[in-house]
Amino acid sequence: MATNRITIANNLLATLPHKDYKLLLPGLKPVELTFGEILYEPGAPIRHVYFPNDSLVSLLTLVEGHLALEVGLVGREGMLGISLALGVNTSPVRALVQGSGTALRMTSARFLQDFRRSLPLQREIYRYTHVLMAQVTQTAACNRFHVVEARLARWLLMTSDRLSSNEFHLTQEFLAHMLGVRRVGVTKAASALQRHQLISYSRGNIRILDRKGLEAASCSCYEMVRDMHERVANRPERHGNQRKTRIGVTASGPNNRPGPLSRAPQVTADAVT
Ligand SMILES: [Zn+2]
Repeated sequence: MATNRITIANNLLATLPHKDYKLLLPGLKPVELTFGEILYEPGAPIRHVYFPNDSLVSLLTLVEGHLALEVGLVGREGMLGISLALGVNTSPVRALVQGSGTALRMTSARFLQDFRRSLPLQREIYRYTHVLMAQVTQTAACNRFHVVEARLARWLLMTSDRLSSNEFHLTQEFLAHMLGVRRVGVTKAASALQRHQLISYSRGNIRILDRKGLEAASCSCYEMVRDMHERVANRPERHGNQRKTRIGVTASGPNNRPGPLSRAPQVTADAVT
C-alpha cells in the first residue's frame, strides 16, 4: 500500500484530524462538476454527498410561477448533503452547479457509516450546518430588503471568495435566477457597478476591479455571513495535525485580492492508494 502526499482543498475535510480524514478517504471519489448540472432536486433522495474543491454550487428554492431563487451558496468551505447528518435523506432545495470544478463525492450510505464513527466529522458538520443556516436566513432577509445592486455586489464577493478568483463567467440569465430579478434588473445593477469601476462585465465575463469598493457597495449581509464563518472557524478546540483553516477574515493587502475564504490554506495529508 503506497502513501502519497495530496492536497485537501475542501476546508471542512482539511479541518479534520488526520485519522478521521483517513477514515473517510477510501470512500471519497474525485468528480468533475459542470456548470448547470443539478445535484439535488427538492424532495428527491440524496444519493451522494459532495465536498467541493474549486467548484461552486447554488442552493435554490422553487416557488410556483416564479424563477428559482438562490438561498445559499456552497463552495470549498462546506459540503452538500448535510440533511443526511440530520436524519433526513431528501434535499429541501435544488442544488445547481454554478461554477465548474472538482469535488470529492461519497455515497450516502458510506457517509452515514463514517459519520457515526467520527466525532470530529460530526462536530464539523454541525458547525457548518449552523453557518449555512445563518447564510440562508440572512439571504432570505437580503432578498426581501436590499436593492439589486447591493445584492449583486454581495453575490459577486461571495462567489469570488469561494472560487479563489476575481474573474468568472456568468450569463445575465443565470444572474437573474440567482438574484430573483428580471434580466433588465441585472443589467442595470451591473452597469452601476461598472460605472463606479468596481467590476468589468462583458459578454458574461465578470472581473472584480476594486474589491474594497465592491465591499462598500455590498449590503451588510456579506460581512455578517463572513463574520459568522470567522467566529465559528476561530474556535479554540480546533485541533488535528493541520494548520488552522481561516475562513472569513477581513481581507488585507492588495485591494483586489479574492476574499479570505478562498485563501484558506490548502492542507496536505497522506493519501493511501
Ligand atoms: Zn443584503
